[in-house]
Amino acid sequence: TEACLSAIDGAGALNAFVHKTPEIARDRAAAADQRIKAGEAPAMCGIPVGIKDLFCTRGVPSQAASNILKGFKPEYESTVSQQLVDAGAVMLGKLNMDEFAMGSSNETSCYGNAVNPWRRGNDDAALTPGGSSGGSASAVAADLCLGATGTDTGGSIRQPAAFTGITGIKPTYGRCSRWGIVAFASSLDQAGPMTKDVRDAAIMLGAMCGHDPKDSTSADLPVPDFEAALTGDIRGKKIGIPREYRMDGMPDEIEKLWADGTAMLKDAGAEIVDISLPHTKYALPAYYVVAPAEASSNLARYDGVRYGHRAKLGQGDGITEMYEKTRAEGFGHEVQRRVMIGTYVLSAGFYDAYYNRARKVRALIKRDFETVFADGIDAILTPATPSAAFGLGEMAEADPIAMYLNDVFTVTVNLAGLPGVAVPTGLDRQGLPLGLQLIGRPWEEGALLNHAYVLE
Ligand code: GLN
Repeated sequence: TEACLSAIDGAGALNAFVHKTPEIARDRAAAADQRIKAGEAPAMCGIPVGIKDLFCTRGVPSQAASNILKGFKPEYESTVSQQLVDAGAVMLGKLNMDEFAMGSSNETSCYGNAVNPWRRGNDDAALTPGGSSGGSASAVAADLCLGATGTDTGGSIRQPAAFTGITGIKPTYGRCSRWGIVAFASSLDQAGPMTKDVRDAAIMLGAMCGHDPKDSTSADLPVPDFEAALTGDIRGKKIGIPREYRMDGMPDEIEKLWADGTAMLKDAGAEIVDISLPHTKYALPAYYVVAPAEASSNLARYDGVRYGHRAKLGQGDGITEMYEKTRAEGFGHEVQRRVMIGTYVLSAGFYDAYYNRARKVRALIKRDFETVFADGIDAILTPATPSAAFGLGEMAEADPIAMYLNDVFTVTVNLAGLPGVAVPTGLDRQGLPLGLQLIGRPWEEGALLNHAYVLE
Protein backbone atom coordinates (compact mmCIF):
# COMPACT_ATOMS: atom_id res chain seq x y z
CA THR A 1 0.00 0.00 0.00
CA GLU A 2 2.77 2.44 0.88
CA ALA A 3 4.63 1.60 -2.34
CA CYS A 4 1.50 2.24 -4.37
CA LEU A 5 0.73 5.48 -2.55
CA SER A 6 4.18 6.83 -3.32
CA ALA A 7 4.01 5.59 -6.91
CA ILE A 8 0.73 7.49 -7.29
CA ASP A 9 2.34 10.65 -5.89
CA GLY A 10 5.15 10.28 -8.41
CA ALA A 11 2.82 9.69 -11.36
CA GLY A 12 0.72 12.84 -11.24
CA ALA A 13 1.38 13.40 -14.96
CA LEU A 14 -0.70 10.32 -15.80
CA ASN A 15 -3.73 11.97 -14.16
CA ALA A 16 -5.05 8.49 -13.40
CA PHE A 17 -6.14 9.07 -9.79
CA VAL A 18 -8.52 11.99 -9.42
CA HIS A 19 -9.06 11.59 -5.66
CA LYS A 20 -6.51 9.93 -3.45
CA THR A 21 -7.63 8.30 -0.23
CA PRO A 22 -4.41 7.55 1.69
CA GLU A 23 -6.08 7.56 5.12
CA ILE A 24 -8.67 5.02 4.04
CA ALA A 25 -5.91 2.99 2.38
CA ARG A 26 -3.76 2.91 5.52
CA ASP A 27 -6.72 1.99 7.72
CA ARG A 28 -7.74 -0.83 5.44
CA ALA A 29 -4.18 -2.05 5.07
CA ALA A 30 -3.91 -2.19 8.87
CA ALA A 31 -7.24 -4.02 9.04
CA ALA A 32 -6.01 -6.49 6.41
CA ASP A 33 -2.88 -7.03 8.48
CA GLN A 34 -5.04 -7.88 11.50
CA ARG A 35 -7.10 -10.31 9.47
CA ILE A 36 -4.01 -12.07 8.22
CA LYS A 37 -2.63 -12.27 11.77
CA ALA A 38 -5.95 -13.72 12.88
CA GLY A 39 -5.47 -16.47 10.33
CA GLU A 40 -8.13 -15.11 8.02
CA ALA A 41 -7.03 -14.20 4.51
CA PRO A 42 -9.84 -13.47 2.08
CA ALA A 43 -9.09 -13.33 -1.64
CA MET A 44 -8.08 -9.68 -1.88
CA CYS A 45 -6.64 -9.28 1.61
CA GLY A 46 -4.29 -6.29 1.65
CA ILE A 47 -4.36 -5.86 -2.13
CA PRO A 48 -4.22 -2.16 -3.11
CA VAL A 49 -6.76 -1.27 -5.78
CA GLY A 50 -8.18 1.79 -7.48
CA ILE A 51 -11.90 2.41 -7.94
CA LYS A 52 -13.33 4.05 -11.06
CA ASP A 53 -15.02 7.36 -10.24
CA LEU A 54 -18.33 5.90 -11.48
CA PHE A 55 -18.64 3.80 -8.30
CA CYS A 56 -20.20 5.46 -5.27
CA THR A 57 -17.81 5.24 -2.34
CA ARG A 58 -19.06 6.33 1.06
CA GLY A 59 -17.81 9.76 2.12
CA VAL A 60 -15.43 9.97 -0.86
CA PRO A 61 -16.09 12.18 -3.91
CA SER A 62 -17.85 10.13 -6.58
CA GLN A 63 -18.38 12.42 -9.52
CA ALA A 64 -18.44 10.17 -12.59
CA ALA A 65 -15.88 12.70 -13.87
CA SER A 66 -18.67 15.23 -14.32
CA ASN A 67 -18.96 18.80 -13.12
CA ILE A 68 -22.62 18.20 -12.45
CA LEU A 69 -21.66 15.93 -9.54
CA LYS A 70 -19.08 18.34 -8.14
CA GLY A 71 -18.88 17.94 -4.38
CA PHE A 72 -21.07 14.82 -4.34
CA LYS A 73 -20.00 12.46 -1.57
CA PRO A 74 -22.38 9.53 -1.35
CA GLU A 75 -23.60 8.26 1.99
CA TYR A 76 -23.51 4.73 0.68
CA GLU A 77 -21.06 2.34 -0.91
CA SER A 78 -21.67 0.53 -4.20
CA THR A 79 -22.17 -3.20 -3.78
CA VAL A 80 -19.11 -4.02 -5.87
CA SER A 81 -16.75 -1.73 -3.96
CA GLN A 82 -18.23 -2.96 -0.66
CA GLN A 83 -17.57 -6.55 -1.72
CA LEU A 84 -13.98 -5.62 -2.45
CA VAL A 85 -13.69 -4.09 1.02
CA ASP A 86 -15.19 -7.24 2.52
CA ALA A 87 -12.66 -9.32 0.60
CA GLY A 88 -9.87 -7.28 2.21
CA ALA A 89 -8.97 -4.97 -0.70
CA VAL A 90 -7.41 -1.59 0.06
CA MET A 91 -8.85 1.40 -1.83
CA LEU A 92 -6.13 3.87 -2.84
CA GLY A 93 -8.46 6.39 -4.45
CA LYS A 94 -10.80 7.14 -7.33
CA LEU A 95 -9.83 6.77 -10.96
CA ASN A 96 -10.28 9.03 -13.93
CA MET A 97 -12.76 8.19 -16.69
CA ASP A 98 -14.81 9.74 -19.44
CA GLU A 99 -17.70 11.82 -18.13
CA PHE A 100 -20.53 9.44 -17.17
CA ALA A 101 -18.49 6.73 -18.95
CA MET A 102 -19.28 8.23 -22.36
CA GLY A 103 -16.22 8.11 -24.52
CA SER A 104 -13.32 6.04 -25.76
CA SER A 105 -10.34 8.27 -24.99
CA ASN A 106 -10.83 9.76 -21.51
CA GLU A 107 -10.99 13.19 -23.10
CA THR A 108 -14.51 13.92 -21.91
CA SER A 109 -13.46 13.84 -18.23
CA CYS A 110 -14.04 17.01 -16.20
CA TYR A 111 -10.60 16.38 -14.68
CA GLY A 112 -8.84 16.37 -18.04
CA ASN A 113 -7.79 13.09 -19.62
CA ALA A 114 -5.72 10.36 -18.04
CA VAL A 115 -2.55 9.54 -20.00
CA ASN A 116 -1.34 6.19 -21.28
CA PRO A 117 2.01 5.22 -19.72
CA TRP A 118 3.08 3.74 -23.09
CA ARG A 119 4.79 5.80 -25.83
CA ARG A 120 5.13 5.27 -29.59
CA GLY A 121 8.76 4.35 -30.16
CA ASN A 122 10.88 7.38 -29.27
CA ASP A 123 8.02 9.78 -29.74
CA ASP A 124 7.13 11.70 -26.59
CA ALA A 125 3.59 12.54 -27.66
CA ALA A 126 1.06 11.56 -25.02
CA LEU A 127 -1.38 8.81 -26.00
CA THR A 128 -4.86 8.05 -24.76
CA PRO A 129 -5.23 5.15 -22.33
CA GLY A 130 -8.61 4.58 -24.00
CA GLY A 131 -11.94 5.01 -22.33
CA SER A 132 -14.05 5.21 -20.55
CA SER A 133 -12.11 3.31 -17.86
CA GLY A 134 -8.89 5.05 -18.92
CA GLY A 135 -7.75 6.01 -15.44
CA SER A 136 -8.16 2.40 -14.32
CA ALA A 137 -6.12 1.15 -17.29
CA SER A 138 -3.38 3.73 -16.91
CA ALA A 139 -3.07 3.08 -13.16
CA VAL A 140 -2.79 -0.69 -13.54
CA ALA A 141 -0.40 -0.46 -16.50
CA ALA A 142 1.85 1.97 -14.60
CA ASP A 143 1.84 -0.20 -11.44
CA LEU A 144 0.08 2.43 -9.34
CA CYS A 145 -2.25 -0.30 -8.05
CA LEU A 146 -2.54 -4.06 -8.44
CA GLY A 147 -6.02 -3.99 -9.88
CA ALA A 148 -8.81 -1.56 -10.61
CA THR A 149 -12.52 -1.62 -11.12
CA GLY A 150 -13.86 -0.66 -14.51
CA THR A 151 -17.29 -0.56 -16.09
CA ASP A 152 -18.18 -1.56 -19.60
CA THR A 153 -21.28 -0.40 -21.45
CA GLY A 154 -19.91 -0.73 -24.97
CA GLY A 155 -16.26 -1.60 -24.49
CA SER A 156 -15.02 0.62 -21.69
CA ILE A 157 -13.13 -2.15 -19.90
CA ARG A 158 -11.85 -4.02 -22.94
CA GLN A 159 -10.71 -1.12 -25.15
CA PRO A 160 -8.61 0.64 -22.47
CA ALA A 161 -7.22 -2.75 -21.38
CA ALA A 162 -6.09 -3.35 -24.98
CA PHE A 163 -4.61 0.16 -25.28
CA THR A 164 -2.48 -0.25 -22.15
CA GLY A 165 -1.42 -3.91 -22.35
CA ILE A 166 -3.47 -5.20 -19.44
CA THR A 167 -6.32 -7.67 -18.99
CA GLY A 168 -9.94 -6.63 -18.54
CA ILE A 169 -13.11 -8.69 -18.42
CA LYS A 170 -16.70 -7.58 -18.80
CA PRO A 171 -18.68 -10.35 -17.17
CA THR A 172 -22.13 -11.58 -18.21
CA TYR A 173 -24.81 -8.94 -17.70
CA GLY A 174 -26.18 -9.52 -14.20
CA ARG A 175 -22.99 -11.09 -12.81
CA CYS A 176 -21.91 -7.95 -10.89
CA SER A 177 -24.39 -5.79 -9.06
CA ARG A 178 -24.97 -2.37 -10.60
CA TRP A 179 -26.20 -0.97 -7.28
CA GLY A 180 -24.34 2.21 -6.38
CA ILE A 181 -22.70 2.53 -9.79
CA VAL A 182 -23.73 5.74 -11.55
CA ALA A 183 -26.02 4.52 -14.34
CA PHE A 184 -25.18 5.21 -17.99
CA ALA A 185 -27.22 2.68 -20.00
CA SER A 186 -28.74 0.30 -17.48
CA SER A 187 -29.39 -2.63 -19.83
CA LEU A 188 -25.75 -2.61 -21.00
CA ASP A 189 -23.66 -1.50 -17.98
CA GLN A 190 -21.51 -4.09 -16.22
CA ALA A 191 -18.63 -3.75 -13.80
CA GLY A 192 -15.49 -5.83 -14.09
CA PRO A 193 -11.86 -6.04 -13.04
CA MET A 194 -8.86 -4.58 -14.85
CA THR A 195 -5.63 -6.29 -13.87
CA LYS A 196 -2.11 -7.17 -14.91
CA ASP A 197 -2.94 -10.71 -15.95
CA VAL A 198 -5.68 -13.28 -16.31
CA ARG A 199 -5.14 -14.90 -12.91
CA ASP A 200 -5.56 -11.56 -11.14
CA ALA A 201 -8.69 -10.91 -13.20
CA ALA A 202 -10.13 -14.27 -12.10
CA ILE A 203 -9.43 -13.55 -8.43
CA MET A 204 -10.72 -9.99 -8.51
CA LEU A 205 -13.85 -10.90 -10.50
CA GLY A 206 -14.66 -13.56 -7.90
CA ALA A 207 -14.53 -10.89 -5.20
CA MET A 208 -16.62 -8.38 -7.17
CA CYS A 209 -19.56 -10.46 -8.32
CA GLY A 210 -22.49 -12.29 -6.81
CA HIS A 211 -26.19 -11.89 -6.26
CA ASP A 212 -27.45 -8.60 -4.83
CA PRO A 213 -31.11 -8.16 -3.91
CA LYS A 214 -30.65 -4.40 -4.34
CA ASP A 215 -30.21 -4.80 -8.13
CA SER A 216 -33.21 -6.47 -9.75
CA THR A 217 -31.09 -7.47 -12.77
CA SER A 218 -28.44 -9.14 -10.63
CA ALA A 219 -28.41 -12.90 -11.24
CA ASP A 220 -29.14 -15.22 -8.37
CA LEU A 221 -26.45 -17.70 -9.28
CA PRO A 222 -23.55 -19.11 -7.29
CA VAL A 223 -20.14 -17.58 -7.96
CA PRO A 224 -17.80 -20.26 -9.29
CA ASP A 225 -14.11 -20.38 -8.43
CA PHE A 226 -12.83 -18.58 -11.53
CA GLU A 227 -9.20 -19.09 -10.60
CA ALA A 228 -9.66 -22.86 -10.40
CA ALA A 229 -10.84 -22.77 -14.03
CA LEU A 230 -7.37 -21.62 -15.18
CA THR A 231 -5.97 -24.99 -16.15
CA GLY A 232 -4.59 -23.96 -19.53
CA ASP A 233 -6.32 -27.02 -20.98
CA ILE A 234 -8.50 -26.07 -23.95
CA ARG A 235 -8.08 -29.28 -25.93
CA GLY A 236 -11.13 -30.03 -28.03
CA LYS A 237 -12.69 -26.62 -27.44
CA LYS A 238 -14.21 -24.96 -30.48
CA ILE A 239 -13.13 -21.41 -31.20
CA GLY A 240 -15.25 -19.38 -33.59
CA ILE A 241 -13.66 -16.83 -35.89
CA PRO A 242 -16.50 -14.55 -37.05
CA ARG A 243 -16.05 -13.51 -40.66
CA GLU A 244 -18.02 -10.29 -40.23
CA TYR A 245 -15.34 -8.95 -37.88
CA ARG A 246 -12.84 -8.91 -40.74
CA MET A 247 -13.52 -5.28 -41.58
CA ASP A 248 -12.43 -3.45 -44.71
CA GLY A 249 -9.28 -1.46 -44.16
CA MET A 250 -8.31 -3.44 -41.08
CA PRO A 251 -4.62 -2.68 -40.38
CA ASP A 252 -2.21 -5.54 -41.25
CA GLU A 253 -0.97 -5.57 -37.70
CA ILE A 254 -4.42 -6.31 -36.34
CA GLU A 255 -4.90 -9.05 -38.98
CA LYS A 256 -1.59 -10.58 -37.95
CA LEU A 257 -2.40 -10.35 -34.25
CA TRP A 258 -5.66 -12.13 -34.86
CA ALA A 259 -3.98 -14.85 -36.94
CA ASP A 260 -1.27 -15.32 -34.30
CA GLY A 261 -3.89 -15.62 -31.55
CA THR A 262 -5.81 -18.15 -33.61
CA ALA A 263 -2.63 -20.17 -34.09
CA MET A 264 -1.89 -20.12 -30.36
CA LEU A 265 -5.32 -21.51 -29.52
CA LYS A 266 -4.95 -24.14 -32.22
CA ASP A 267 -1.53 -25.17 -30.93
CA ALA A 268 -3.11 -25.61 -27.50
CA GLY A 269 -5.46 -28.19 -29.00
CA ALA A 270 -8.54 -26.11 -29.81
CA GLU A 271 -10.46 -26.54 -33.01
CA ILE A 272 -10.80 -23.38 -35.11
CA VAL A 273 -14.13 -22.84 -36.84
CA ASP A 274 -15.19 -20.12 -39.26
CA ILE A 275 -18.49 -18.71 -38.06
CA SER A 276 -20.95 -16.06 -39.14
CA LEU A 277 -22.60 -13.44 -36.95
CA PRO A 278 -24.63 -11.87 -39.75
CA HIS A 279 -26.06 -8.86 -37.92
CA THR A 280 -22.70 -7.56 -36.72
CA LYS A 281 -22.72 -4.57 -39.04
CA TYR A 282 -25.84 -3.19 -37.36
CA ALA A 283 -24.40 -3.39 -33.85
CA LEU A 284 -22.73 0.00 -33.71
CA PRO A 285 -25.76 1.95 -34.98
CA ALA A 286 -28.07 -0.02 -32.66
CA TYR A 287 -25.75 0.65 -29.71
CA TYR A 288 -25.62 4.38 -30.45
CA VAL A 289 -29.42 4.48 -30.31
CA VAL A 290 -30.02 2.25 -27.27
CA ALA A 291 -27.19 3.63 -25.11
CA PRO A 292 -28.08 7.34 -25.54
CA ALA A 293 -31.79 6.54 -25.09
CA GLU A 294 -31.14 4.93 -21.72
CA ALA A 295 -28.59 7.60 -20.83
CA SER A 296 -31.03 10.43 -21.49
CA SER A 297 -33.47 8.78 -19.14
CA ASN A 298 -30.86 8.02 -16.44
CA LEU A 299 -29.37 11.51 -16.59
CA ALA A 300 -32.73 13.22 -16.08
CA ARG A 301 -32.07 12.98 -12.33
CA TYR A 302 -29.29 15.59 -12.49
CA ASP A 303 -31.57 18.55 -12.09
CA GLY A 304 -29.71 20.81 -9.70
CA VAL A 305 -31.96 19.72 -6.84
CA ARG A 306 -30.85 16.32 -5.73
CA TYR A 307 -27.12 16.11 -6.35
CA GLY A 308 -24.01 18.15 -6.85
CA HIS A 309 -23.93 21.32 -8.86
CA ARG A 310 -26.65 23.99 -9.10
CA ALA A 311 -26.21 27.03 -11.36
CA LYS A 312 -26.39 30.55 -9.92
CA LEU A 313 -29.70 32.02 -10.88
CA GLY A 314 -30.51 35.54 -12.05
CA GLN A 315 -33.39 37.80 -11.18
CA GLY A 316 -36.65 36.36 -12.38
CA ASP A 317 -35.22 32.88 -13.08
CA GLY A 318 -37.66 30.12 -12.24
CA ILE A 319 -37.33 26.37 -11.98
CA THR A 320 -37.04 25.87 -15.75
CA GLU A 321 -34.09 28.24 -15.93
CA MET A 322 -32.58 26.47 -12.94
CA TYR A 323 -32.71 23.11 -14.74
CA GLU A 324 -31.48 24.57 -18.02
CA LYS A 325 -28.58 26.52 -16.60
CA THR A 326 -27.53 23.73 -14.24
CA ARG A 327 -27.51 21.12 -16.99
CA ALA A 328 -25.84 23.42 -19.52
CA GLU A 329 -23.05 24.20 -17.06
CA GLY A 330 -22.76 20.77 -15.49
CA PHE A 331 -22.71 18.46 -18.51
CA GLY A 332 -19.90 18.41 -21.04
CA HIS A 333 -20.44 18.34 -24.82
CA GLU A 334 -20.46 14.59 -25.32
CA VAL A 335 -22.96 14.07 -22.52
CA GLN A 336 -25.19 16.79 -23.94
CA ARG A 337 -24.96 15.18 -27.37
CA ARG A 338 -26.04 11.80 -25.93
CA VAL A 339 -28.95 13.35 -24.05
CA MET A 340 -30.12 15.06 -27.24
CA ILE A 341 -29.81 11.89 -29.32
CA GLY A 342 -31.50 9.87 -26.60
CA THR A 343 -34.48 12.15 -26.13
CA TYR A 344 -34.84 12.37 -29.92
CA VAL A 345 -34.93 8.61 -30.52
CA LEU A 346 -37.39 8.17 -27.66
CA SER A 347 -39.68 11.00 -28.72
CA ALA A 348 -43.23 10.12 -29.76
CA GLY A 349 -42.76 10.64 -33.49
CA PHE A 350 -39.45 8.77 -33.80
CA TYR A 351 -39.70 6.02 -31.18
CA ASP A 352 -40.70 3.32 -33.64
CA ALA A 353 -38.31 4.39 -36.35
CA TYR A 354 -35.25 4.46 -34.09
CA TYR A 355 -35.55 3.09 -30.58
CA ASN A 356 -37.87 0.20 -31.33
CA ARG A 357 -35.94 -0.73 -34.44
CA ALA A 358 -32.67 -0.69 -32.51
CA ARG A 359 -34.23 -3.00 -29.91
CA LYS A 360 -35.21 -5.43 -32.65
CA VAL A 361 -31.73 -5.33 -34.12
CA ARG A 362 -30.38 -6.00 -30.66
CA ALA A 363 -32.52 -9.14 -30.42
CA LEU A 364 -31.12 -10.33 -33.78
CA ILE A 365 -27.57 -9.75 -32.64
CA LYS A 366 -28.23 -11.76 -29.50
CA ARG A 367 -29.74 -14.54 -31.60
CA ASP A 368 -26.63 -14.65 -33.83
CA PHE A 369 -24.57 -15.52 -30.76
CA GLU A 370 -27.11 -18.01 -29.43
CA THR A 371 -27.01 -19.81 -32.76
CA VAL A 372 -23.24 -20.26 -32.82
CA PHE A 373 -23.14 -21.31 -29.17
CA ALA A 374 -25.93 -23.82 -29.85
CA ASP A 375 -23.72 -25.17 -32.65
CA GLY A 376 -21.09 -26.01 -30.07
CA ILE A 377 -18.79 -22.98 -30.23
CA ASP A 378 -17.08 -22.47 -26.86
CA ALA A 379 -15.52 -19.06 -27.41
CA ILE A 380 -15.21 -16.47 -30.15
CA LEU A 381 -11.92 -14.76 -30.97
CA THR A 382 -11.78 -11.23 -32.42
CA PRO A 383 -9.49 -8.21 -32.19
CA ALA A 384 -10.31 -6.01 -29.18
CA THR A 385 -9.84 -2.71 -31.02
CA PRO A 386 -9.33 -1.58 -34.61
CA SER A 387 -5.99 0.08 -33.77
CA ALA A 388 -3.42 0.63 -31.04
CA ALA A 389 -3.76 3.61 -28.69
CA PHE A 390 -4.08 6.88 -30.59
CA GLY A 391 -2.69 10.29 -29.67
CA LEU A 392 -4.59 12.59 -27.35
CA GLY A 393 -6.35 15.21 -29.44
CA GLU A 394 -5.89 13.10 -32.59
CA MET A 395 -9.60 12.34 -32.87
CA ALA A 396 -11.16 15.72 -33.38
CA GLU A 397 -14.16 16.55 -31.24
CA ALA A 398 -15.75 17.71 -34.47
CA ASP A 399 -16.10 14.09 -35.57
CA PRO A 400 -17.71 12.04 -32.81
CA ILE A 401 -18.47 9.22 -35.27
CA ALA A 402 -14.76 8.49 -35.71
CA MET A 403 -14.55 8.03 -31.95
CA TYR A 404 -17.63 5.80 -31.92
CA LEU A 405 -15.95 3.49 -34.48
CA ASN A 406 -13.50 2.46 -31.79
CA ASP A 407 -16.24 0.33 -30.28
CA VAL A 408 -16.85 -1.72 -33.42
CA PHE A 409 -15.56 -5.01 -31.95
CA THR A 410 -16.86 -4.57 -28.43
CA VAL A 411 -20.48 -3.33 -28.47
CA THR A 412 -22.01 -6.59 -29.74
CA VAL A 413 -21.04 -8.26 -26.47
CA ASN A 414 -22.94 -5.69 -24.40
CA LEU A 415 -25.97 -5.79 -26.66
CA ALA A 416 -26.08 -9.57 -26.22
CA GLY A 417 -25.25 -9.48 -22.49
CA LEU A 418 -22.30 -11.85 -22.94
CA PRO A 419 -18.96 -12.02 -21.14
CA GLY A 420 -15.96 -10.64 -23.05
CA VAL A 421 -12.32 -10.38 -22.11
CA ALA A 422 -9.48 -8.37 -23.63
CA VAL A 423 -6.05 -9.85 -23.22
CA PRO A 424 -2.74 -8.32 -24.35
CA THR A 425 -1.17 -10.49 -27.04
CA GLY A 426 1.33 -8.39 -28.96
CA LEU A 427 2.92 -5.09 -29.85
CA ASP A 428 2.50 -3.01 -32.97
CA ARG A 429 5.53 -1.86 -34.95
CA GLN A 430 5.89 1.22 -32.79
CA GLY A 431 5.97 -0.90 -29.68
CA LEU A 432 2.43 -0.23 -28.50
CA PRO A 433 0.35 -3.00 -26.95
CA LEU A 434 -2.44 -4.69 -28.90
CA GLY A 435 -5.12 -6.93 -27.49
CA LEU A 436 -7.42 -9.69 -28.60
CA GLN A 437 -10.95 -10.22 -27.40
CA LEU A 438 -12.54 -13.53 -26.46
CA ILE A 439 -16.31 -13.74 -26.16
CA GLY A 440 -17.82 -16.53 -24.10
CA ARG A 441 -21.09 -18.24 -23.29
CA PRO A 442 -23.27 -16.56 -20.67
CA TRP A 443 -22.22 -17.33 -17.08
CA GLU A 444 -19.08 -19.15 -18.22
CA GLU A 445 -16.51 -16.55 -17.26
CA GLY A 446 -14.23 -19.25 -15.85
CA ALA A 447 -14.01 -21.10 -19.16
CA LEU A 448 -13.61 -17.78 -20.97
CA LEU A 449 -10.74 -16.71 -18.74
CA ASN A 450 -9.13 -20.11 -19.28
CA HIS A 451 -8.99 -19.42 -23.03
CA ALA A 452 -7.53 -15.99 -22.32
CA TYR A 453 -4.98 -17.67 -20.05
CA VAL A 454 -3.72 -19.66 -23.03
CA LEU A 455 -3.29 -16.45 -25.06
CA GLU A 456 -1.41 -14.31 -22.52
N1 GLN B 1 -17.12 4.17 -26.00
C1 GLN B 1 -18.46 3.74 -25.74
C2 GLN B 1 -19.35 4.93 -25.51
O1 GLN B 1 -18.85 6.00 -25.56
C3 GLN B 1 -18.48 2.79 -24.59
C4 GLN B 1 -18.51 3.43 -23.27
C5 GLN B 1 -18.58 2.45 -22.16
O2 GLN B 1 -18.45 1.24 -22.34
N2 GLN B 1 -18.86 2.99 -20.99
O3 GLN B 1 -20.52 4.80 -25.29
